[in-house]
Amino acid sequence: MSPSPGIVYLVGAGPGDPGLITVRGAKLLEQADIVIYDLLSNPRLLSYCPHAEAIYVGKKAAAHSLPQEQINALLIEKARAGKRVVRLKGGDPFVFGRGGEECQALADAKIPFEIIPGITAAIAAPTYAGIPVTHRDLNSSFTFITGHEKEDEYRDDQTKSREKGDAGDINWDIIAKLPCIAFYMGVKSLARICSRLIENGMSPETAAATIQWGTMPTQKTVVSTLSRLAQDVAEAKLQSPAITIIGKVVELRNTLSWFEHRQLFGQTIVVTRSRHQASELSERLEELGASVIEAPTIELHEPADLAPIDAAIKSAGNYDWICFTSASGVTATRKRLFALGHDARLFGQAKIAAIGQATAQAIARDLCLKVDLCSKTFVAEALADELAQRNAIASQRFLLLRADIARPLLRERLQQAGAAEVKDVPLYETRRAAELPATLIESLVTGRINWITFTSSSTAKNFADLLGPDHRQKLAHIKLASIGPITTQTLRDLNLEPTIQGTKFDIDGLISAIVAHQEKSP
Ligand code: SAH
Repeated sequence: MSPSPGIVYLVGAGPGDPGLITVRGAKLLEQADIVIYDLLSNPRLLSYCPHAEAIYVGKKAAAHSLPQEQINALLIEKARAGKRVVRLKGGDPFVFGRGGEECQALADAKIPFEIIPGITAAIAAPTYAGIPVTHRDLNSSFTFITGHEKEDEYRDDQTKSREKGDAGDINWDIIAKLPCIAFYMGVKSLARICSRLIENGMSPETAAATIQWGTMPTQKTVVSTLSRLAQDVAEAKLQSPAITIIGKVVELRNTLSWFEHRQLFGQTIVVTRSRHQASELSERLEELGASVIEAPTIELHEPADLAPIDAAIKSAGNYDWICFTSASGVTATRKRLFALGHDARLFGQAKIAAIGQATAQAIARDLCLKVDLCSKTFVAEALADELAQRNAIASQRFLLLRADIARPLLRERLQQAGAAEVKDVPLYETRRAAELPATLIESLVTGRINWITFTSSSTAKNFADLLGPDHRQKLAHIKLASIGPITTQTLRDLNLEPTIQGTKFDIDGLISAIVAHQEKSP
């Protein structure tokens, strides 16, 4: 026995949207030693616990899921080894989730456990489809039923063989009188469910909807009537996981639908920036409803020799201007500054300049410094122009803290305009990523991708390189979004024509241009 006894937390992961886990669930993930999860808990939640051991017990492509007894044994074994175990379960652990059985096994084994509820699919999916599950004028009860789908891929084989394919304890005579019902695990048995309800007296005209992958960017909703639902769902090719809601409340979707109306809903968009830089763009696109695939084409590396950077940072206070050309440059500066045991006071009276708003924000956030001059657009020309307009170049000393691939333009312009000194220091090296992720290749093949975004010339070059010589053909039916004129020129050199180009040469401008294009030609 371990000296410090372990514990198991049964945590409801929510229905899919990673934002729908509870605050307590997220906190327990952060503290977990081990996370045991299955298919319906969004793997993105694992970003809360990068250092925990993550064990997948759901069904993979052709393999079978781990039988329930083995899952129970695994929970007990890990807790006995003194671990903090999070058992992450889709939706709510106790709603058709076998959480009760897992807790019984833990109780029998005298393992301490806690249970954290989650938002169950029958609440979340209709909400995201614009269907309130109760309404004062329409229904005063709401019932959860399992369709006991024999073939449901989220249930282990033992459970499937125990169930007879029809819900033995369902009294159709009573069910058919209920005003609002949610059926879990019912896609394949939908025809049978609907005919049983009609046979037992429910009106064939009752409004009904099936929602697939509710709360996810891939959410799909089919609205119909009881008599036609099974046929319509089959035609729309909806599959598990899906929830079916039967009742008059479904009609409210006409006015309450919201999630599927967001500006980029249904669009699959590729982000080619480095992993460090991707999250802002990815999050903004997701907020607008897009499904994002991150395919980093660039990796940022700290140079092997840090001496030139350290020397430049130590002498930064001697310059009149310190210019930052990107948010990543700010992050790299902060890292070295702190590693050297200093803080921003080292910059003394030097004025601070930034290319673009995002860089200025990073300076304020990471270095707690006020920016004296920020170019409106994210190109070096704009900063050079603004410095020139202020007559702030002649006989001034400049320190440029930038990426190794930055164009020499800013340095040249400053030198031409009579700067006393321009010290140009690359802070990090950029390298092409080794390969594109498998999900991207797969989505290219299946034709799922609508847009690819390019936020710099190097993302465009590297992406084309990684795709290989027939890149043009592979991208033939995909819309390409370029952040600005320089990236556009690189795309054209690669024989690719961008569908849109951002106007402000930053993330905001790129997103606005994509949205404007979608509104014009959805
Ligand atoms: N414990 C889970 C349910 C597990 S049973 C919960 O509380 O939600 C699995 C069934 O849940 C699926 O067959 C489907 O009917 C439903 N389900 C889970 N996630 C869903 C989603 N995102 N959209 C629609 N239905 C979902």
